[in-house]
Amino acid sequence: MAQAEACGSLSLVQPAMSPIAMTILLVAGWGLFAWSARRRWKLMMIGRPEGRGDHVGQRVKLALRFAIGQARMPRYQFSGLAHVLVFSGFIVLLLRSLILWGRGYSEDFNFWLFAPTQTLGMIYAVLKDTFVLLVLLGTCIFFYYRLVKRLPRLTLNLDGVIILGIIFMMMLADVLYDTAYMAQADHQAYKIEYAGYILHGALTGLSSGTLSVLEHLGFWTHTSLVLIFMNILPYSKHFHIITAVPNVFAADLTPRGRLVPIEDMEGKIEREETLGVAAIQDLSWKGILDLYTCTECGRCSDVCPATKTGKLLSPKHLAVDLRDHLYARQNEVMNIKAPSASDGSLNSVPLVSMDLIKPEVLWACTTCRACEEECPVFITFVDKIVDLRRNLVMERAEFPDELQNAFRGLETSGNPWNYPADDRLKWTEGLDIPLISDHPDAEVLFWVGCAGAFDARAQKVTIATAKLLKHAGVNFAILGLEETCTGDPARRAGNEFLFQTMAEQNCETFKGHNIKRIITACPHCFNTLKNEYPDFGGKFEVIHHTDFLLDLVRRGKLKPQKEVAATVAYHDSCYLGRYNDIYDSPREILRSIPGVTVVEPEDTRDRGMCCGAGGAQMFKEEEEGDERVNAVRTGQLLKALDIVDNESQTTNHAVASACPFCMRMLSDGIADKQREDVRQLDVAEVLCESVLGKELTAETAESAENQ
Ligand code: SF4
Ligand code: SF4
Repeated sequence: MAQAEACGSLSLVQPAMSPIAMTILLVAGWGLFAWSARRRWKLMMIGRPEGRGDHVGQRVKLALRFAIGQARMPRYQFSGLAHVLVFSGFIVLLLRSLILWGRGYSEDFNFWLFAPTQTLGMIYAVLKDTFVLLVLLGTCIFFYYRLVKRLPRLTLNLDGVIILGIIFMMMLADVLYDTAYMAQADHQAYKIEYAGYILHGALTGLSSGTLSVLEHLGFWTHTSLVLIFMNILPYSKHFHIITAVPNVFAADLTPRGRLVPIEDMEGKIEREETLGVAAIQDLSWKGILDLYTCTECGRCSDVCPATKTGKLLSPKHLAVDLRDHLYARQNEVMNIKAPSASDGSLNSVPLVSMDLIKPEVLWACTTCRACEEECPVFITFVDKIVDLRRNLVMERAEFPDELQNAFRGLETSGNPWNYPADDRLKWTEGLDIPLISDHPDAEVLFWVGCAGAFDARAQKVTIATAKLLKHAGVNFAILGLEETCTGDPARRAGNEFLFQTMAEQNCETFKGHNIKRIITACPHCFNTLKNEYPDFGGKFEVIHHTDFLLDLVRRGKLKPQKEVAATVAYHDSCYLGRYNDIYDSPREILRSIPGVTVVEPEDTRDRGMCCGAGGAQMFKEEEEGDERVNAVRTGQLLKALDIVDNESQTTNHAVASACPFCMRMLSDGIADKQREDVRQLDVAEVLCESVLGKELTAETAESAENQ
């Protein structure tokens, strides 16, 4: 062999590499990996079918940006950077592993274009060494976070440390192999591999036999560790190295705010099929791929309002618990012949129980989607939590008592508070608000929503919005007594049957009036009408009042002229922001008003903290925890106001929102903190004050209070 000949000490040195040893290593390593991968595939396929093969171009772009490009990682500066370094290092060094396996058969093996004499080979050699060093750096950062800083969001177990150790050793072994190789005089032509070249001086003076042993040590350590690492992956959280790209590729491309309907509910009930998710095999294959992909990074729990306030729910632990359960029962579930027919004969272990997922975990979720927005590998929780709730509610009739009142109210009075249905029009008294039945030619339907119609505080927002519409000359009308709840609270609480009944009824009403455009001041109604009603035949444009009012301001139909001297902390509603990307319109309206200064709380826009009302929380007691969600969020908003107050000496404070549920939660939060000096206003009310003047707005408030 070339090296042996050049060294001239052939008899003392083992042949540089061994085809037999490499063949045994590769067959054993890849054989074992293939066996594990096949089992993981089979396990994934026990899940319900789910179509995720459409819009391939869009999916490829998504995977390139978020799985390969790690676009969400920089949100956590240093650990994000470390992850980018290690992940991109793996991609670059994949080729290196192939080359080294080839060198088990021929010492000078290289893929032709990647030979060090070729331009591509030189570029790759530099890149390879650069990424070896970067991966070492990234691993050190990870070690620091695990062993020194001990970040609470991470799972600080031995598994993580072992894997980091393997990665670290792989990189060191690679450098050792190059260094020892170059220390042998005839191999210095490879100096483009600069890490080895720089270090090789440290080894000069060692005998050729010692150098050869070091070279072997580096080579076999690296090549074997790659195969060992590969075989650990399917059994550890590091499986995401393989599954992250397909998981992001298979992301749900339908609107984020849409829950997938249960098809053919009545048929399913008749056939006694499972409704929602009862046992692990009731998840879809994509749901199982999600579980494989969780990196246990804890970013989801870091932003979860339930975790932050000490509730039992932590999305990371929910994913890990489901995955542990899946693996623990894998032999049993893989024997299921017809996964969709949950006849209870095989795996009938209910997921929701005191030993596995406690009901309190599920009922603590506000469906705010903060976890999903943060997860670097696009794992979803709201769909799984609602699916588990669906089973609890529709099959086991197990849910918080207070929700029974909400369900009854929806069934009998068309609103979750159980107000008499006839009271829905009370807010219109003395205001001359047109009904669609009297004005079939109205261009826009103003969907008032249950809160806007019945809740005394939200009525003021409804009135302010209606006054602005009238002032701007908008040809609008309301449904009046024909309006009923969209069904959103029922759906988020898991009562899909009730939701579908209400959705179908409302869609019929819209069809009957030939409705083409709807505006609403409630983000929950907005999301359901816009993103979920199309599944029930609803075909119309839906606009949130902040978008609609901003357009009127821009077109000069509404002129915010009167000064409203106020420092306003704006709170993003989850169903408006994270669900529907409406962040700028409310802020732009506020900034268009003379005298208003907008300030941002510490968690804002797509990281805005939930007020605690979503996901049907509004209609039940908050689950037990250390603090209330609305108290923490109110604290953040007040802090934002106080900071500005100190600087600008203003005394006129307000918290603004654009959702009746947020308004209720934040008003309570402000009252609990005895900060009555801080006003809680909807964006429409602030605009109304500027356009129509304080007197008219006060009249608005009075009119609502008299209802
Ligand atoms: S949706 Fe919100 S409350 Fe629910 S798990 Fe995710 S972050 Fe937590
Ligand atoms: S679900 Fe996503 S964000 Fe949460 S721990 Fe797993 S990978 Fe991290």
